[in-house]
Amino acid sequence: MTGQTVNLNNKTKDIRGLIAQMTLEEKASLCSGESFWMTKAIERLGIPSILLTDGPHGVRKQDGAEADHLGLNGSSPATCFPSAAGLASSWNLELVNRVGEALGKESQAEGVSILLGPAANIKRSPLCGRNFEYFSEDPYLTGEMAIAHINGVQSQGVGTSLKHFAVNNQEHRRMTINAVVDERTLREIYLTGFEMAVKKSQPWTVMSAYNRVNGEYCSENEYLLTDILKKEWGHEGFVVSDWGAVNEAVASVAAGMALEMPASHGIGQKSIIDAVENGQLSEEVLNQSVERLLSVVFKAYANRKSDAVYDQDVHHALARQTAQETMVLLKNDGGILPLAREGKIAVIGALADKVRYQGGGSSHINPTKLDQPLQEMIKAAGSQAEVKYAQGYDLDSDVTVEALIEEAKQLGASSDVVVLFVGLPDRYESEGYDRTHLNLPENQRIVIEQVAAVQPNLVVVLSNGAPIVMPWIGNAKAVLEGYLGGQAFGGAVTDLLFGDANPSGKLAETFPLNQKHNPSHPYFPGEKDQVEYREGIFVGYRYYDSKELEPLFPFGYGLSYTTFEYSDLDISSANITDQESVNVTVSVKNTGQRFGQEVVQLYVRAVNPHVIRPEKELKGFIKVALQAGEEKKVSFTLDKRSFAYYNESLRDWHVESGEYEVMISKSSRDLVLRSSLKVVSTVELQTIFHRNSTLGEIMSNPKTAPLLQRLQGIAPQSEPQPESLSDPSDAVSSDMKKAMIQYMPLRGLLPFTGGAMTEETLNMMLEQFNHAVKKAD
Ligand code: BGC
Repeated sequence: MTGQTVNLNNKTKDIRGLIAQMTLEEKASLCSGESFWMTKAIERLGIPSILLTDGPHGVRKQDGAEADHLGLNGSSPATCFPSAAGLASSWNLELVNRVGEALGKESQAEGVSILLGPAANIKRSPLCGRNFEYFSEDPYLTGEMAIAHINGVQSQGVGTSLKHFAVNNQEHRRMTINAVVDERTLREIYLTGFEMAVKKSQPWTVMSAYNRVNGEYCSENEYLLTDILKKEWGHEGFVVSDWGAVNEAVASVAAGMALEMPASHGIGQKSIIDAVENGQLSEEVLNQSVERLLSVVFKAYANRKSDAVYDQDVHHALARQTAQETMVLLKNDGGILPLAREGKIAVIGALADKVRYQGGGSSHINPTKLDQPLQEMIKAAGSQAEVKYAQGYDLDSDVTVEALIEEAKQLGASSDVVVLFVGLPDRYESEGYDRTHLNLPENQRIVIEQVAAVQPNLVVVLSNGAPIVMPWIGNAKAVLEGYLGGQAFGGAVTDLLFGDANPSGKLAETFPLNQKHNPSHPYFPGEKDQVEYREGIFVGYRYYDSKELEPLFPFGYGLSYTTFEYSDLDISSANITDQESVNVTVSVKNTGQRFGQEVVQLYVRAVNPHVIRPEKELKGFIKVALQAGEEKKVSFTLDKRSFAYYNESLRDWHVESGEYEVMISKSSRDLVLRSSLKVVSTVELQTIFHRNSTLGEIMSNPKTAPLLQRLQGIAPQSEPQPESLSDPSDAVSSDMKKAMIQYMPLRGLLPFTGGAMTEETLNMMLEQFNHAVKKAD
């Protein structure tokens, strides 16, 4: 890292000069917080303290109230935007960026310098209690979302904390669990989102996760915090621990962490001082941590806007617009939605009157206002419609209350249509623990079935942070997934139900038919303190596609009130090298009667890979807004990473030379156009032949095949005929012989050459093969 200078109130700070003036005690003191949310100041050197606060979909500033990281105590009012699960379902980067800007403005108004988020963890299992805070099961979508969010917040002079780095995909034993994951899976699935965000948006801080990865705590994992994050990806900011995630302070600093949070009350400081004094920790490493920390502290301080204010109504309106785009229309038989503003509309379900709009735990926001769906529907229905309400079920328990069901049935039967609000109560999903099943509470399922029995025009609206199973779906004509839509959930859902807005969300995760179909089952959440990621790269749709398993709703799926048609897929070049990029264009037309937005998805498939690859992977998406009848051309750029897999022996991304299919899709299961191109690798994989290399491998390499042919004097003239198989018979087919030869290791020839081939000649052959493959063309 080069020396940092930071402009502070028009004075340039020479951070290295400052560090040179600091005592060891002072430096060590900076490595942990002053309090629950503040960093330490050193007055004599003019080092200020800054405030960090949750995040990610609202500002949870705890003023005066007792501080906590579990969402237990109060915080200042702030706009509660839809949580990340919903934001990702919008697939709208510009919108997420605007939400980020609003969060940045609110942070400034509250004096917050670092907003703790976004979270780029992958949804490995729908059971993870914190999935509502995570974007997607797909790393590319996750990365793009994180970039948009970070750029938005940081444009306001407020830092972010990209979390939880890394492989924090469950809450069960989150502070001690060891996630065992192979390198390729780590890179392709669990790190890619972080990598994209670090490289493209430089979050001021990255938060190390609670858990261990391959044996080492993330907070003391040098491979993650220094080798990958700083050296490979070039992170310029500093690493802060998740709250209480430091196992041992000295090991953390040595691994590349700069700030332990919250305050360790002198414990960390003392152990760091001791470690430097007894030579266990180099002072240079400590200096580097302090330098990273101070460069962000001064930057934050210099960017503070003491007179910042924001308009709560404007932000509430943004929350409403965002929520409209985060909701996903899953089913709409017979076009029952949008609702007509006439007749008798029954609104049933306690969640209509007590909206569930955010998840539990550290991200819990104290909203500036709160829209209740029932009130919003009454307001919006107009004078020609009559809206009546029945509670239907008890939200605080799973117990069925017969009187509530009876009331709901009576109202349903005497209405023209029922809008039934169901979902997961707070106790079902939260930070700190995982779900054990994907069902709705039993009393809600019963209401759906009972009401459907008396009223066929049933619309179900869901409030939940992660997938549920829907054995009851045949009872509903329409299902609208509302996710945890933030404080304007009620208004936004009303806009969609009455058609004042057109649904445009698409799932950022697969909804399985059965929890056991999920690839992490039965390895999730592991045994004792260990969870093995045995499904490898086959996470989410990558698995369901490869296994041809029908999901309830696939990744990328979502309906609209209008229709779209695609045409004219074009790839700018039919042949490229992995150093070149290519443009893909396609036209999309709104063929329906009303304005709508379509998420155009681009997936790439390796046609004949020699390594195991998913059926397809998302490599591009664009949300396009179209008036009725309007057509637009959208364009994507594909580059090396669009075709590459992570090659463990190269320790790098690698593109196999070959054909790649580019697929334009409405969802991961609804491909509309496809075309292909050839990509040629500029990197030759080093092959080393050994005595157990097969004849097939040698023959398929253009550099060694001629040699093997020339060496026929020692190699068998024709196919080797093991004694027991030498009798010609039907059992010895030519396919079988071919396979026998193809997979015959070189040393397997020794017994079949009548002594012509010896260990010496075998070694000589190997030398020639290896020499040939090393030679440049
Ligand atoms: C969570 C973090 C959060 C921190 C501070 C932890 O429990 O994992 O996401 O930022 O607390 O509240």
